[in-house]
Amino acid sequence: FGDKFKKPEGSWECDACMLENKAQDSKCVSCQTAKPGAAPAPSTAPETQRGLVGFGDKFKKPEGAWECDVCCVQNKADALQCVACQSNKPGAKVEP
Ligand SMILES: [Zn+2]
Ligand SMILES: [Zn+2]
Repeated sequence: FGDKFKKPEGSWECDACMLENKAQDSKCVSCQTAKPGAAPAPSTAPETQRGLVGFGDKFKKPEGAWECDVCCVQNKADALQCVACQSNKPGAKVEP
């Protein structure tokens, strides 16, 4: 008696919902709250390098895209007029 109610080794109680989690859980299985005092999982790749590459690629403009001077909408390279306000592409030769 007594052993039956002993907590498993390393188990921890969630601060948010009081659920008891196992030692190997790094966050609450119920509400996903991080284990108190647990260090954030170390990232495998260097943060600076990964951030630079990911950020740049994601927000790079499509090749040849242009921004409307009038409404600042970004248009595709093959668009000769703004898709939003129909303004001519800056520098585009418009045949009479
Ligand atoms: Zn919880
Ligand atoms: Zn426009």
